[in-house]
Amino acid sequence: MLQRVGLDAETLEKYPHEFSGGQRQRIGIARALVTHPDFVLCDEPISALDVSIQAQVVNMLEDLQQDMGLTYLFVAHDLSMVRHISHRIAVMYAGHIAEISPAKELYRHPAHPYTQALLSAIPIPNPQRARQTQRIRLQGDPPDPVAELPGCPFASRCSRCTPRCTRERPALEPVSGQHLAACFEK
Ligand code: SF4
Repeated sequence: MLQRVGLDAETLEKYPHEFSGGQRQRIGIARALVTHPDFVLCDEPISALDVSIQAQVVNMLEDLQQDMGLTYLFVAHDLSMVRHISHRIAVMYAGHIAEISPAKELYRHPAHPYTQALLSAIPIPNPQRARQTQRIRLQGDPPDPVAELPGCPFASRCSRCTPRCTRERPALEPVSGQHLAACFEK
């Protein structure tokens, strides 16, 4: 399994402090896969790594997925990486799913105001295109995560909020096909 994650047999003789961050992440992945699971929860697997190492680890995860027939639940904040690795994406806000969709559809047609704000914040490398694109800046504060609010969790920051949004919690409902969003104004 160490070989499958790109490490050699000498790894077994080393102490933890002798490994780089990327090597430690590979060891963590080998530990997770050594029991041959069907499903792996990857909780922020690349957030602490250099960008160059991030790409290596993600490519390795994709290869392992193909070889071992794995399903990943990949938790991440880097939207470019999420787009690269995901087949289906759930956007969460304050502990609730705001929107869930096949990956391509979500990036092309985000329906929930929070998803739209998130996607508008992705840096655009082309300066001309970046100037033409309007970034949505959210106002207000996130809700207390432990408070049980009656309405939409995003209501305190949403520019489309209506009185109904503060009274009722929107259910996840179809936008199109497998694309669902929890918003009254979608
Ligand atoms: S339900 Fe209302 S507050 Fe919630 S995201 Fe939709 S428009 Fe905004």
